[in-house]
Amino acid sequence: MNIISILGSTGSIGVQALDVIASQGGRYAVKALGAGRNIRLLKKQIEIFRPRLVAVYDEEHAHRLRELSGSGTGTAIVHGPQGYCEVASLPESDLVISSMVGAAGLIPTLAAIEAGKNVALANKETLVMAGELVMAAAKRKGVMILPIDSEHSAVFQCLQGQRREALKRIILTASGGPFYAWAQDALRDVKPVQALRHPNWKMGKKITIDSASMMNKGLEIIEARWLFDVPVDQIEVVVHPQSIVHSFVEYWDGSVIAQLGKPDMRIPIAYALSWPERLPREGPFMDFRAPSTLEFRSPDEEKFPCLALACSAVKTGGTMPAVLNGANEVAVQAFLDEEIRFIHIASVIKSVMNAHLPVFSPALADIINADSEAREGAMKNIKERRD
Ligand code: MG
Repeated sequence: MNIISILGSTGSIGVQALDVIASQGGRYAVKALGAGRNIRLLKKQIEIFRPRLVAVYDEEHAHRLRELSGSGTGTAIVHGPQGYCEVASLPESDLVISSMVGAAGLIPTLAAIEAGKNVALANKETLVMAGELVMAAAKRKGVMILPIDSEHSAVFQCLQGQRREALKRIILTASGGPFYAWAQDALRDVKPVQALRHPNWKMGKKITIDSASMMNKGLEIIEARWLFDVPVDQIEVVVHPQSIVHSFVEYWDGSVIAQLGKPDMRIPIAYALSWPERLPREGPFMDFRAPSTLEFRSPDEEKFPCLALACSAVKTGGTMPAVLNGANEVAVQAFLDEEIRFIHIASVIKSVMNAHLPVFSPALADIINADSEAREGAMKNIKERRD
């Protein structure tokens, strides 16, 4: 039996991971869960999966969970960053699913690696902020980083059994988000509710806004750079509105290998859990006899400047990607709170990046500092826009 810990169990990926696990009979056991503030859902998950340990956001939520669950569940309740690290390093776990949202996922994911766990990675900020450091730690500990992000799962699958010297380029597909066909001027008056309406994928709020601005694809370029140890100029993005081809890998002989499937995150989750095997699932399956079209187009970098900002950050290197990420998290939240316009997400990030002097070959402390600096800079910039 495989013992699993999940960081971010009440989020979109966490819930779908538990769904995959529950569908596989006794093949997997969940022994530790980390969640934020959704105590009611966490209580249900505890009742179903009977973990030995759970971690929640803070002491107050730990207290509320204890009251709600009553005694005698046999589940220890801890809280805060230290609590998440305990979940990540639970001795009996074989694999940690890292699916917390945002920068908060970095330290627990590193704790899992340091504890010698294989990591099924959905938290892209881990590699965006600290890719070099995280991949070096994984190598040193001899652990696998198995991608859950659908594009990276696709690339990972297309690279199986191939010689790396033969790899010409990686092509990440992007749905283009809800505004792909909109005129640039129309983006000025976009409301959060419109940006939250993703055409193909049902995901959490942060990543849905990132998809609408195409920052999500920018973050994925950085993620791919580290995960597959490929220079950025060998990674391209193509808009594919149907989200059926999840990415391509091209080899020097001109062969292109793609991974296709329904846009359902349970497919890459199942692959990360079972690699190198494949879990039988009950669908949904592709029907190629039904009339369908697969389209591919070049991304509009003028309309979606976040893509170029992300490429520039990873080319600069050092702490710059962490700054891009920190400023983006603050700007996205400000847009959701209707403090800034959608088109200002990119301008906030750009000014914060311009003000940053990057530290190269950063230690974890440099990355954490850069992240805080970026958040403060972004908040200041947003406040100045309002004044
Ligand atoms: Mg993705």
